[in-house]
Amino acid sequence: MSGKASYEFATATRILFGAGKLTEAAPAAATLGKHALVVTGSNPTRAKKLLESLKAEGLKSTVHSVTGEPKIVDAQAGTECARQNECDLVIALGGGSAIDAGKAIAALCTNPGDPLDYLEVIGKGQPLTQSPAPFIAIPTTAGTGAEVTRNAVLASPEDRVKVSLRHPLMLPKLAIVDPQLTYELPPQLTATTGLDALTQLIEPFTCKRANPMTDALCREAIPRAARSLQGACQNPNPATREDMALASLHGGLALANSGLGAVHGFAAPIGGMFEAPHGAICAALLPHVMETNLKASTDRNRYTETARLLTGNPNATAKNGVDWVKDLVHTLKIPGLSTYAIAEKDFPNIIEKAHTASSMKANPVNLSDDQLTGILQAAL
Ligand SMILES: [Zn+2]
Repeated sequence: MSGKASYEFATATRILFGAGKLTEAAPAAATLGKHALVVTGSNPTRAKKLLESLKAEGLKSTVHSVTGEPKIVDAQAGTECARQNECDLVIALGGGSAIDAGKAIAALCTNPGDPLDYLEVIGKGQPLTQSPAPFIAIPTTAGTGAEVTRNAVLASPEDRVKVSLRHPLMLPKLAIVDPQLTYELPPQLTATTGLDALTQLIEPFTCKRANPMTDALCREAIPRAARSLQGACQNPNPATREDMALASLHGGLALANSGLGAVHGFAAPIGGMFEAPHGAICAALLPHVMETNLKASTDRNRYTETARLLTGNPNATAKNGVDWVKDLVHTLKIPGLSTYAIAEKDFPNIIEKAHTASSMKANPVNLSDDQLTGILQAAL
């Protein structure tokens, strides 16, 4: 590639990575506020250790749990809870859903009015006027990288879409990535979230907006995800969990500062229209998007390098990389999109919406409706 490098890179103010780093959450929280709203997923008992340590540091805490991927009403309910309890700090401990919910709540509790004032696409898309409450993100899955991104994805079931609340000020004050928190993650969730993490490395690395900084993050993390994802699913140990936690973090750092591609261009509308977890959608689409992009591209260099990073073979061809991902998706028994009641009759609607997704615009090549239909057909 030629030309001058030109890019911006922004992330969480502070990142702590490593097994056992959760213990640093409460002392850090004590410097940011006095009363924490602790946002968790459907299993709030996971926050027990954190709550005890917050108490020991002299902080009050109020727990707010969110079930499933957050909807606009969940963010509103959490904001109400934070205001009523006069929380001055938000800590999210959970998967991408809990982190997105916490991030949205932290933004909405200091910014007046309705979430729709600030939401993209279905709302007015106004910028935030106030800094969000200090926000600490602590992921318990290895997939979304939401602990280092500046947007929160919220579903609007009545519109059948997912939309973002997005602002640079929404970048967390602190991201704590502690692989120990993923040790109990069940195999199927490890597989789908892990394939989302891998997608969030391959798409930034091959997309139109890749930059030298995000390239470095992807080059480090793709081999780690490749060597450890299957083991983390089938026979997890601290080393494979650490690799996947790092892959997820690097994916978040990369996607927030370069872009994604057709997998996420599709995942946005599909996630809004159907009850399907984000990671599972990405996992089902990844090999077919790679294959179609490769066929449609004139410049194969990035795909060839991706293949070499994935396989560890310095002579691998771009096609070897696609085959490697296909085999992995097959081995991990990733179900097709029809599992979520997606059918051929839905394709035109999905494709129409996918064209407008920002991720689709970063895809390395512009894909025709026929090519997009072929991807969905193959992923069904
Ligand atoms: Zn994703």
